[in-house]
Amino acid sequence: ASSKLLLLCTLSLSGGGVVAYSESQADVSKTSVQVNEKDCKKKRVVVLGTGWAGISFLKDLDVSAYDVQVVSPRNYFAFTPLLPSVTCGTVEARSIVEPVRNMIKKRNGEIRFWEAECTKIDAANKKLLCRYTVENNLVGNVEFSLDYDYLVIAVGAQINTFNTPGVLENCHFLKEVEDAQKIRRSVIDCFEKAVLPGLTEEEGRINLHFVIVGGGPTGVEFAAELHDFVNEDLVNLYPSVKDLVKITVIQSGDHILNMFDERISCFAEKKFSRDGIDVQTGCRVISLSDKEITMKIKSTGEVCSVPHGLVVWSTGVETRPVVKDFMAQIGQANRRVLATDEWLRVKGREDVYALGDCATINQRKVMEDIAAIFKAADKDNSGSLTIKEFEDVIDDILLRYPQVEHYLKSKHLRSVTDLLKDPEGKDRDEVDIEGFKLALAHVDTQVKSLPATAQVAAQQGSYLSKCFNRKNQCEDNPEGPRRFKGSGRHQFRPFQYKHLGQFAPLGGEQAAAELPGDWVSMGQSTQWLWYSVYASKQVSWRTRVLVVSDWTRRFIFGRDSSRI
Ligand code: FAD
Repeated sequence: ASSKLLLLCTLSLSGGGVVAYSESQADVSKTSVQVNEKDCKKKRVVVLGTGWAGISFLKDLDVSAYDVQVVSPRNYFAFTPLLPSVTCGTVEARSIVEPVRNMIKKRNGEIRFWEAECTKIDAANKKLLCRYTVENNLVGNVEFSLDYDYLVIAVGAQINTFNTPGVLENCHFLKEVEDAQKIRRSVIDCFEKAVLPGLTEEEGRINLHFVIVGGGPTGVEFAAELHDFVNEDLVNLYPSVKDLVKITVIQSGDHILNMFDERISCFAEKKFSRDGIDVQTGCRVISLSDKEITMKIKSTGEVCSVPHGLVVWSTGVETRPVVKDFMAQIGQANRRVLATDEWLRVKGREDVYALGDCATINQRKVMEDIAAIFKAADKDNSGSLTIKEFEDVIDDILLRYPQVEHYLKSKHLRSVTDLLKDPEGKDRDEVDIEGFKLALAHVDTQVKSLPATAQVAAQQGSYLSKCFNRKNQCEDNPEGPRRFKGSGRHQFRPFQYKHLGQFAPLGGEQAAAELPGDWVSMGQSTQWLWYSVYASKQVSWRTRVLVVSDWTRRFIFGRDSSRI
């Protein structure tokens, strides 16, 4: 494949073809090759990643204005919200993926795609080192380099084990399509092993103990899917062990789904308790072996070990090494996530953009400004504002910084609005500024980091493509539209996240949803809303038809339990 890749490079280049990469370039291997410019009149845009952010950027980009190349180790886009459904065969893996080359074909082939991983971003020389990572015995070079004028980093994040011993060796993860396929096979393995002759009941019980570490949306949805798979399909096929199955969710916080409205957490916990799914909150996993999971109960400090058959680790994500290395080059080594400004530009690197799970918008300046607005409003230094003054300040903030509206107007405001009531729930006449600062500190942490969701990534991709499409126009007219002239204001409005709601499917045709405006919806009708939203959000008619037919097949015939 690497030789084909080289051939492809050579054929697709109108100019100088493929040239050997200079040996003097310190970080680039002698064996790598450099892909030359295709059209020197156009600016070269390189996009890293074909996930939600990358694909949504490419979907709307005016490719005729740029020389666009895409690098990703995955030659497909995966609809991640349906990954938990793949683990139990409710939906087939190939139904939720769309080949990148199909998407490129629709853009008249004006985008070039390289199936490779970017291993180094050389920010000083505007170069990328990429590597073909599929292990096989095909001949030819595996490394090449690319020059860019603009770089769009959309590489997502990787699973975070929090350095817990034994996790990498003994856990399943639910991040990629391959992970979901592995889990599907392993669940069937556990059942086939449990029914073998000669196993004691206790051994069967251990093999059929499914543990999910992490009570966030992914862990909860997987637990719900697994429960349905077991109770709707597997108990009929493995009746002798049906009473031995146990599903446990281990959560370090006090509630599962704690990023959702508390009504949803409560609904989910009650539903799981009715279904017999054991939810252990306030427990932190400290180590794992192939046989046991050891955890610490936070309230008592007690340490206990539980035998398991299969563990799925779903506790969050962290920055990928290539991004960490880039952060070290640009002076962000002490940060956890790559910081951008509100136009998604990497701080200090105007030609590099970062979006999706690999980046976060740093709004420290905005929060400092908001604190200053409050200080200024407290003219008599009394430490409090009247309700009218308080409301005016909030309006002022929203006018200046519309991007914080999601936080100030959504559930995070609850801590702020609580300040408007006294402990007996009566309206106060004045708002205590110190109290407000505490509430603001809470908003601050939320504002600084948008949730790592497909929704944020897709909106950022689409925002950035609009900026790119207007770039030429803005370069010709650097001061922006007439109404901003002389104001020094940036030509583009900053990225503003619109929260369109979030679903939590809970199994048994029940789902919960947090909808815009703090609306909460729960039950069977919400599950139908989930079906319709997820069918409509598919990236192509092909995947839409496949997903809907998988759901129909499941309704009629049940899920397939073959271990393929
Ligand atoms: P990704 O979609 O992860 O894409 C990253 C891309 O970069 C991939 O193509 C990858 O192959 C590529 N890449 C990686 N390393 C490199 C490299 N070195 N060089 C080049 N390319 C590279 N969000 C929701 O809003 N709703 C949901 O219901 C939901 N459910 C989820 C369920 C699961 C099981 C999971 C795992 C996630 C879910 N999410 C959901 C979160 C959502 O998937 C992520 O927030 C989203 O994928 C982030 O998009 P991204 O483009 O930043 O990263």
